[in-house]
Amino acid sequence: MSPTVRTVSRKFRGAETMEGAGVRLRRMFGNSEVPLLDPFLLLDNFGSTNPEDYLAGFPWHPHRGIETVTYMLNGTTAHEDSLGNKGVIGSGDVQWMSAGSGIMHQEMPKRTEGLLSGFQLWVNLPHAQKMETPAYRGVDAATIPVLKEEDGREVKVIAGTYHGVEGPVRHIPVDPIYLDVRLAPGTEFEQPTKPGYTAFAQVMDGSGLFDPMGVPAVGEGPPTLYNGSIDPDAEAVSGPGHTVLYGDGDAVRIRAGDQGVRFLLVSGRPLHEPVAWYGPIVMNSREEIRQAVSDLQHGTFIRSKKVINEV
Ligand code: FE
Repeated sequence: MSPTVRTVSRKFRGAETMEGAGVRLRRMFGNSEVPLLDPFLLLDNFGSTNPEDYLAGFPWHPHRGIETVTYMLNGTTAHEDSLGNKGVIGSGDVQWMSAGSGIMHQEMPKRTEGLLSGFQLWVNLPHAQKMETPAYRGVDAATIPVLKEEDGREVKVIAGTYHGVEGPVRHIPVDPIYLDVRLAPGTEFEQPTKPGYTAFAQVMDGSGLFDPMGVPAVGEGPPTLYNGSIDPDAEAVSGPGHTVLYGDGDAVRIRAGDQGVRFLLVSGRPLHEPVAWYGPIVMNSREEIRQAVSDLQHGTFIRSKKVINEV
């Protein structure tokens, strides 16, 4: 049987917001979209050529019940946490941090030449794992496989599997796919996605047809859409800053427009659990939130061995 290719169910354009100590960023989706993107809670896109937009950074703050996934595209972020990890997330690096029962960390973007940009995705943890021991994965860009194909396709596999190549981030409760995909003009990309799983694409550069309803069969020749007349407002076409949420199916199929396209493709197993969200803490019930706040007030928030003094 041929796969059921997913169609686009919704598109988000995000909204400007301020976070941390005054970092200007674009929130593609967040609290108000729950549970549409279950198990994904939030996606922030930070990006600026002006250091004043980000240098204040994200000083010491807590997390519990979630995973935060930082993918730096340009520039660097200095990072330090209550587990004793300390380092710099460089260009192309990924930090996949599981807060579990509680972590304190700070994330401070550093002044670099030109552009600083990247994404932070919040991935929910299932009830059974929300109070597990925190875990930190610093993934160096050099350890992330990149598949390059003759037609100009380039796929960076951060998590999940593409064409038999598995990304370095493994054993994540929601069984995610996290790919960074570049397509040359007019080329096509297909990726299996498990039925019932949530899948979305975040467009970074260029544009493309993300909905198979707008993708003519291969071999039918380039549609006129690509002859220099691509209409960025056409419903099937998505461009920079668009988040494309897919309906159910077992594959996604994307074709690049006449400038090519670069996007993140993310998929994961939905949890179908109640969400109680309080800032950087996401649990299942208000009682668990009250407990977290009480833990913060009484200095019992960090349950892992290493504890930092300054918060
Ligand atoms: Fe954080």
